[in-house]
Amino acid sequence: MSTPHVAPAGTNLVGLRDHNAALVLGLLRGRPEGGSRVELAAETGLTPQAVGKIVTRLLTDGTVEEAGQAASTGGKPRTLLRLRPDAGCAVGVHLDRDELTVLLVDLAGRPRYRRTVPVDTARGPAPTVELIADQVRAAATEAPPGARLLGVGAGCRGPLDHGSGVLHWFSTFSSPHDPGTPGWDRFPLRDALAARLAGLPVVVDKDTNAAALTEAPGAAAAPGSGVAYIHLAGGLGAGLLLDGVVHRGARTNAGEFGHQTLLVDGPLCDCGNRGCLEALCLAELRRADHAAAARLVGVGVANLVRVLDVDRVVLGGRVILERPETYRAGVAEQLRERIPDARWQPVAVSVSTAGPWAVAAGAAELVLGPVFGRRA
Ligand SMILES: [Zn+2]
Repeated sequence: MSTPHVAPAGTNLVGLRDHNAALVLGLLRGRPEGGSRVELAAETGLTPQAVGKIVTRLLTDGTVEEAGQAASTGGKPRTLLRLRPDAGCAVGVHLDRDELTVLLVDLAGRPRYRRTVPVDTARGPAPTVELIADQVRAAATEAPPGARLLGVGAGCRGPLDHGSGVLHWFSTFSSPHDPGTPGWDRFPLRDALAARLAGLPVVVDKDTNAAALTEAPGAAAAPGSGVAYIHLAGGLGAGLLLDGVVHRGARTNAGEFGHQTLLVDGPLCDCGNRGCLEALCLAELRRADHAAAARLVGVGVANLVRVLDVDRVVLGGRVILERPETYRAGVAEQLRERIPDARWQPVAVSVSTAGPWAVAAGAAELVLGPVFGRRA
């Protein structure tokens, strides 16, 4: 066991605020075989002098390492540089109503530790935060020797304020019709957790936004590309990755996919409205009719495609992972039926390859992404 060096609050690996260093690291992230200084300059558009200085700094602090020589093309041999995954790590947390998952990833995003434990959020925020902090500390002891712990990302059910890390009324643990446990309404999860973790940087986001970040973290998104990550577990929501960036909206509350009205004057939903997609879908799940639930999710997805023209849909969450093919096929069928010209506007439907770890892995990416210049 090693004790990781904890980066002071507000700082990050090699100056998170250094945009040019992030550009260089971002390129190396997508290139495990490494790249030369000349290539890095050509691809970032930075001058060779600027790249030289950045690389010297990254070599000195151990974020990158030399990886041999590039094959000679007749000129001076070029030293390859690559990311050193052990240089840093981040913790991703998935807080669900009854289950807590904690994941430690290294700088390359590889899992080094993961654990799921039961949590009773009905006992209130204080014991829950205590448990999360204990589990984060346990995960941190598994960090590679000397690795800097960059921070903690936490994903949970919204609505919540991503900017302030404050949970909202009828958030994860209560609703207007089920007041849940006092203390969760407007609970400042981010600050409470940071206080328990000696000021370690903490980022809080909706579970759906976090999970969406697991899609192609190292690759540049094609202009105009759109991914909708649909999460069906205790509720139904969507994380939207537009041009490779999470779309959160003005109040960071975009993606309330499950609360689109599908049936005017339909059954009452937890949110207080009637006929929400989520309410209809949960009613089918209570009857254990997954084909009907999949059809409803597909109708909602078709609405989303028509509004946002996303070209990729990824399905995840406990309910979907139990019957992945039922949901994949059900959603694909509705898209075929409801998009006027599906040949012109094809939508790829798949099930999350991150599986049950999607939210925790994406939560870690909330911390890692900015190191590589990704707008998380
Ligand atoms: Zn609703």
